[in-house]
Amino acid sequence: MTEFRCIVCDRPLLRTLPAYERLPRVTSDCKPWPAGGQLAVCDSCGAIQKLPDRKWLDEIDRIYRAYQIYHLSGGEEQVIFSADGQAVPRSRALADFVTRRLDRSRPGRMIDIGCGNGSALANFSRALDGWSFEGVNFGTQRFRSCGQFRASPSSMLGRLIGSKAASISSL
Ligand SMILES: [Zn+2]
Repeated sequence: MTEFRCIVCDRPLLRTLPAYERLPRVTSDCKPWPAGGQLAVCDSCGAIQKLPDRKWLDEIDRIYRAYQIYHLSGGEEQVIFSADGQAVPRSRALADFVTRRLDRSRPGRMIDIGCGNGSALANFSRALDGWSFEGVNFGTQRFRSCGQFRASPSSMLGRLIGSKAASISSL
């Protein structure tokens, strides 16, 4: 157990997974990253999460200072192969996976914190008619390549976290 509390349920029941620190890692912008760090599972709610210790905070600072969204594919979201063998953008595969499991009888709301250029929001909005979507990104340059979203620094989320926010009601 660690001194940290679960970011989902706030219970102090995080158990680190010792094998994780030996695994080579890849950053979310698909760059190799050395082994190390900690990964924990909450014994109450089952959420998997990184532990926000000093080492992890230093690492994410270094990663995001040099972040290059989708740099392997020239700025376009990379494709993956879906279960039926189709090459589709990663966020479309995620949207398909999630929406198949949702109760779609009534509209809902979705927030994407760290939405980058909004690719995931765009794919979810195509799959979830009538829903509203909001994305927040720490920085403004990503929105320049995201024409379908309105950058709205005065949105509620933007005010709460002091960042730019993008929102759409439909595409
Ligand atoms: Zn939990």
